[in-house]
Amino acid sequence: MSKITLGIIGGGQLGSMLAIAAKELGINTIVFCDDIDAPAQNFCNKFIHSSYGNNQSIIDFVNQVDIVTYEFENIPYETLNEINKLKVVLPKPSVNRLIQHRLAEKDFINKLNIRTTRYVSIKDKSEIEALDDFLPGILKTVTLGYDGKGQYPINNVNDLKKLNIDFSKKYILEKLVKLKKEISIIITRFDNFKYEIYEPIENTHQDQILKYSKIPAEINEKIFEQSKNWAIMIAEELKYVGTLCVEFFIDRNENLYVNEIAPRVHNSGHLTINAYNVSQFENHIRAVCRLEQVKLKKISNAKMVNLLGDQILPYREKENFGKNEFFFDYLKKEIKKNRKMGHLTTLV
Ligand code: ADP
Ligand code: MG
Repeated sequence: MSKITLGIIGGGQLGSMLAIAAKELGINTIVFCDDIDAPAQNFCNKFIHSSYGNNQSIIDFVNQVDIVTYEFENIPYETLNEINKLKVVLPKPSVNRLIQHRLAEKDFINKLNIRTTRYVSIKDKSEIEALDDFLPGILKTVTLGYDGKGQYPINNVNDLKKLNIDFSKKYILEKLVKLKKEISIIITRFDNFKYEIYEPIENTHQDQILKYSKIPAEINEKIFEQSKNWAIMIAEELKYVGTLCVEFFIDRNENLYVNEIAPRVHNSGHLTINAYNVSQFENHIRAVCRLEQVKLKKISNAKMVNLLGDQILPYREKENFGKNEFFFDYLKKEIKKNRKMGHLTTLV
């Protein structure tokens, strides 16, 4: 059989790790990205640099691949949908459209009788007065947010009035959950009730950016089961193909809430590269390329730390890592404050 060529839209570290996993499975990758310095170009077979709106280069890209996947959410639905008319796009473009819209995403989750934070859509200044019920809260742009970008903490109605909100954009106001913990579930779905699921991962954020992940998560049995069941229900309802991450909040009364869904591989799952027989990246490639499903086996407990901004520098200098330590440098050209530059996984 001739080799499969997988197209990956987006060229960040997730794209790099997908390309590495694909290579090990004998699959060629072509990465399409609008950043000329995209780190994934160091790991894929071919790199196409172009804006996502350039139809001609999209067609050139699509002509060279068998299947298309993506490593980030913020791709216009129209683009993915047009590509899907020519080559299979997985996860399906409609799934991405649903999840890239915070309101549609939360409505979808609630319809499954799964708990989320309380939320309200805000389209206009006049709606702000009646929002006491949702405060303290966090105001978020409905689309295009990541790593806490486009989010404003709001303690009272006056805070809201003081903010100079650009109402050409739409917003969602979410009630603040008194957090005890955050966890995530990573699941790879192959077909109806055919999936591989990783155990819950415990996550610690700093300034709304993921800093630490670890397994096992220190949670009770009920939350362990409920988080897995909810992730399975979500993946089944979406008829999802590929790796998906569900982020959860646990409040001080041990209630579980879904925070959000990521229709892709996820930062909290980097530790699966070393802690499991099959990583979230390999599983994603296996599912979207319709390869064999391999039963997941945990190899070790693990913890991961994200190296943000210049925190990467001492690790680049370091010569000897422990046998249980795995350092990843994303090879980003420019160091910026809070930019994810690399990570270190330690098996424990
Ligand atoms: P992003 O798309 O940037 O990941 P999230 O909605 O996941 O946005 O928010 C990032 C982080 O901010 C969360 O992981 C959590 O730590 C905090 N956060 C967001 N919304 C809430 C909320 N309603 N209550 C408590 N903490 C929140
Ligand atoms: Mg998040």
